[in-house]
Amino acid sequence: MNKLGLYIHIPFCRQKCQYCAFYSSRPRPQDISRYVKAVVRQLDSYDEDLQDYHIDTVYFGGGTPSLLSEGDMAQLMDAIRRYPLSEHAEITCECNPDSATENKLLSYASLGINRISIGMQSGQQDELRALGRLHTHEKTAACVAACKQAGIENISLDLLLSIPHQTPDSLMDSLQKAVDLHPAHLSVYGLKIEEKTPFFLDPPPMPDEDTEWEAYQNTFAFLESMGYNQYEISNAAKPGFESRHNNKYWKRDETLGLGPAAHSFFKGRRFYQEADTAAFMQGNKNIVQEPPLTARDILEETVMLGLRLKEGVDVTPLSPSPQTISFLEQLEKEAYCTYHKGVLSLTRKGFFLSNTIITSLLNLI
Ligand code: SF4
Repeated sequence: MNKLGLYIHIPFCRQKCQYCAFYSSRPRPQDISRYVKAVVRQLDSYDEDLQDYHIDTVYFGGGTPSLLSEGDMAQLMDAIRRYPLSEHAEITCECNPDSATENKLLSYASLGINRISIGMQSGQQDELRALGRLHTHEKTAACVAACKQAGIENISLDLLLSIPHQTPDSLMDSLQKAVDLHPAHLSVYGLKIEEKTPFFLDPPPMPDEDTEWEAYQNTFAFLESMGYNQYEISNAAKPGFESRHNNKYWKRDETLGLGPAAHSFFKGRRFYQEADTAAFMQGNKNIVQEPPLTARDILEETVMLGLRLKEGVDVTPLSPSPQTISFLEQLEKEAYCTYHKGVLSLTRKGFFLSNTIITSLLNLI
C-alpha cells in the first residue's frame, strides 16, 4: 500500500499578525463547526482513492488549528480514522500559545495527536508585539509544559529571524529560552515582507544581507552545539525527531491537502483548493488542477526540493555536463556545497544562498 501524508488547513486566526501571508481570517460564531463538517465532507469525497493508501502522517496547519474545540478536533480525528491510518502515524497540530489550553492539549493527545508545533516566534515581548502576536513568552513556556503534561514530548518551536527590534543578543536570548524548553525540533525562518500584509504597507526596517547571514549562521551553529541537527534549510531536530510530514514535501512523496488554499500531490498530479473559505463551507469544490508534470518539471522539483535537505540530491541521473560539473566543483571549492559520488548537498553557507545556487544550477541542466 502507498503511504500518504494528509494536510488539513484551518483558515482561522483570532487576529492577523503583521507579517502573515498565510490564508486565514477571523472566524465568525459557528464558522469553525461548519468548517469542520466541510472538511469531513471533502475527506469523504476521496473515499475510494484513499482505500489504496496508508495515511502515515497527518498535519493540522493554518491559520490556528488550536482554535478548534475538543469536539471539533474529535470530529476530524474520527473522520480520519475511518480510513487506513497507520498505527504509528505522526499526527501534528500547529498551536498558538494563546489558544492551546491545558485541557485542550489533554484532549488532543487523547485523540491521538502526538506532535505539537508551537508558534513561539521570539522570546522577547517587544518583538512579539511588533509582530502583532497575542502571546507572551510565559504563555509559550506554559504551552510546552501543558503538552508534556498531556504526554506529548514531540514538540517543535517556530522562531523568526530579522524581526523588528531583534539584535544579535536578543536573538541568542530567544534561542536560549527556546532550548531551555527542551523541544525535540525547531523551525527558524527569516521574516520576509510579503505582499498584502500590514508590513508590506508599512515596512519595518530590515537587516542587510550580511546581518541576515550572521543571524542565520549563529542560529544554526548554536542549535547544533545544543544537539539539534540542521537537517533542512530552516529546520533542526534532535536525532529521530525530523518532521516526517514535511519530509514528504521535500522528497516529493504523496500528500493530500484538505481545505481552502491546501495543496496536494496525489496520484501523480498537483492541485489545490481555491482560497475561499465561504465557498468551501458551502460545499463548492473549486479544485484547481496544475498542468501535468513534464519530465523537466519533475527534474526541477527534485533538485529544488531535495537541495533543501542536508542529505542533498543524487545528480547522477541528470547526467551533468562537464560545464555543470565544473560549476559544482567551483561551488565546492568555495564551501557552498559538497559534491561526492554524484550526491550534491549544500553547506550552511550554500543553504543561505540556495535560491541563487539552485537557479544557476537549473540553467545548466
Ligand atoms: S497566527 Fe500564524 S497563521 Fe495566524 S495570522 Fe499569525 S502568523 Fe498568520
